[in-house]
Amino acid sequence: MSAADGLSPSLSARCATNPEEPATGTCSRCGTFFCGRCVQTVLGRTYCGPCAGRPEVNYLERFRQKLWGRRDGWGWLAGMAGALFAALAVFLLLEGQPVPGALCAVGTAVCGAFFLGLRGAREAVIATPLVLALGSAVQGQTEAAVGLAFLSLAALSLRFDTRNQLFFRRPVSEERLLRLWHVRENNPLARQALSVALGGLLLPLLAPLALLLGAWALKRVDPTAVPPIGRRGQALAALVLGGASLVLWALVLWPRLGLFLARFTGG
Ligand SMILES: [Zn+2]
Ligand SMILES: [Zn+2]
Repeated sequence: MSAADGLSPSLSARCATNPEEPATGTCSRCGTFFCGRCVQTVLGRTYCGPCAGRPEVNYLERFRQKLWGRRDGWGWLAGMAGALFAALAVFLLLEGQPVPGALCAVGTAVCGAFFLGLRGAREAVIATPLVLALGSAVQGQTEAAVGLAFLSLAALSLRFDTRNQLFFRRPVSEERLLRLWHVRENNPLARQALSVALGGLLLPLLAPLALLLGAWALKRVDPTAVPPIGRRGQALAALVLGGASLVLWALVLWPRLGLFLARFTGG
């Protein structure tokens, strides 16, 4: 131990993993000293190696892994459409209508490939209705052409759907992943409280429940936690709306209750 250690510990601090290196900072989670070689940055905060690998610290990566290759709602929808097309194809072929039957068989193949998350299936889901739309237009079937063109456009929008990108194992930017995480994982209780509060406008029994859920969701809010817990606005909205509908229902129901009781006790 040198004299300098006692005088100025911060200047002589060493990395916990590589004692030969001077420390450049401390881990945001455990406070351990790290050096420039082993510091890791996760979502704008610096951590030591072991902390950076923890699931709650790297929650976005854990979220990505959870959805990576997992079928989304569109995948299931494509599976159902594929089954429908298959039944239709068999029916049409048995009825002696080879052209529409073959088209349905193509639909089965495209939807099936999408359901399975195969490479190129998303492109096929865009291209197939587009080709059919052109074919219909050439044959003068304008309505079918417009419908198919819209279907192709809808399929094109899937390219901007983060959840669908993850199902097809396509890379997704941290920003888009974070947005999806906020929608799906960040304090869902607040959103549920708000929908219950909206329901409370129609059903008086839901209003106190909305107040309870809103208060609970608000209590959980902690933007500095890892992962952060947000949606303060939605929790507050649930409380305000729940309170307002409770007052409203009280104003509506109270006189009626009085009348009812008066009749009950009087007669
Ligand atoms: Zn640490
Ligand atoms: Zn180090």
